[in-house]
Amino acid sequence: MNFDLSEKHQMLRESVREFRENEMEPLLEGIDPDATHIPKKDEETLQEKAKKQGLWAMGIPEEYGGRGIGILGRVISLEELSKHRLGLYNPGLGGVKLTPGIRVGSPEVYLDTASDFLMDRFIEPTLRGELQSCFALTEPAAGSDPTSMETRAVKDGDEWVINGQKHYIGDAGWCDYGILFSKTTVDGSDEGITCFLIDSDNDGWEMERQMDVIRPFDPFKVSITDLRIDDAFRLTEVGDGFDLAASGVRSGRVTYSAQHIGVATEAMEMALEYSRERETFGKEISKRQAIQWMIADSAVDIHSARLALYDCAWKADRDIDMRHEISMVKLQSSEVLGDVLDKAIQIHGGKGVDKELPLERWYREARIRRIGEGTSEIQRRTVARNLIKDYEPVDLLDKVNEWPTINPSQKQRRIDLGQR
Ligand SMILES: Cc1cc2nc3c(=O)[nH]c(=O)nc-3n(C[C@H](O)[C@H](O)[C@H](O)COP(=O)(O)OP(=O)(O)OC[C@H]3O[C@@H](n4cnc5c(N)ncnc54)[C@H](O)[C@@H]3O)c2cc1C
Repeated sequence: MNFDLSEKHQMLRESVREFRENEMEPLLEGIDPDATHIPKKDEETLQEKAKKQGLWAMGIPEEYGGRGIGILGRVISLEELSKHRLGLYNPGLGGVKLTPGIRVGSPEVYLDTASDFLMDRFIEPTLRGELQSCFALTEPAAGSDPTSMETRAVKDGDEWVINGQKHYIGDAGWCDYGILFSKTTVDGSDEGITCFLIDSDNDGWEMERQMDVIRPFDPFKVSITDLRIDDAFRLTEVGDGFDLAASGVRSGRVTYSAQHIGVATEAMEMALEYSRERETFGKEISKRQAIQWMIADSAVDIHSARLALYDCAWKADRDIDMRHEISMVKLQSSEVLGDVLDKAIQIHGGKGVDKELPLERWYREARIRRIGEGTSEIQRRTVARNLIKDYEPVDLLDKVNEWPTINPSQKQRRIDLGQR
């Protein structure tokens, strides 16, 4: 068994690190950490530089014009990009925008299902960094259990009429289009969940309010009232929306976990450095066993969570089922992140909660990470059910096994991503 990263992956890590240190950090230095967006011109500058350095659209398969770095490559890149003062707090600022701004981490999910019309209108401009989407799955009656969804699309000739409500939707207030999941009715019969792409200037798509949560990068509540769209805006086959949601959520768990490991590593290193500098009662606090144990426990947790994540990504790259593992990884990495940040804050004393350092911001965001992309309880439930093999009626988000594959009809389509 060889745990070494390949030369290709080591070089990738090095180039992403250099990009973060030489391009991102100086440019983002003066930005208000509570801002929800990087100024447009700075974002464009970063995107241009990423394109020039071959760091744009890294997760897009090569046959579509991307770099095709695979899941492990994406994990390593995100881990490096997240080691930044804004890294976890706001994914838009922390680097996910450098992989195109599709709300969940894996654009191939959409390449797999989009028609030529949807590719031209939404997906390709998104991959070039021109459009931003939001992922609208959760609603007041349906979070962990999306089968309770009440949003409904009724087929009316060649159109759909959609009514419902979504909440806690990140980016919805400023995105160009929504990836909307809705139950569907055709000729009076319930046809399950389907996914549609909705222009955000559609009259039936209304931002009800921004939801005031633990961080300033707030999600939104969206009302969908008599929203009418042509059937061409349907992203999946009727009734196949859950498969796409499952792929999207699973991919988001990989993205999340990579960020967790990156930020936890950075927090631990900050704590280590501070413990060597700070003296109390005549010696550095790093010489105290109480501090050493916090550092040791953090290092052990990060090391095991990183190995578990790499194992999962390695399997995904080989089309080996990693559904069981990704639940363990998302659960472990989000909890490790919270624990490591808590210890890093403690080691910094008062400075730990001072807004001058990123620790308190990371800590608030880390609290969300045990809820978003499937709560810790839902991950434990999935892991236990996989082990016990005593399934209750199938949870649809657990249903899809395979990592999304490329739709053969799209395979020849090469996208101009503006790479140099
Ligand atoms: C800041 C933020 C951003 C978000 N962004 C998005 C987004 O962009 N798009 C989107 O679609 N959603 C988004 N969400 C929603 C998020 O995915 C849901 O909040 C999450 O899935 C949990 O759903 P819920 O809030 O309805 O909690 P519930 O499902 O009601 O769960 C409540 C509690 O019960 C527990 N629980 C539920 N079922 C079980 C069970 N079977 N066994 C044991 N315990 C159980 C849960 O773990 C939790 O502790 C976001 C949420 C937040 C807070």
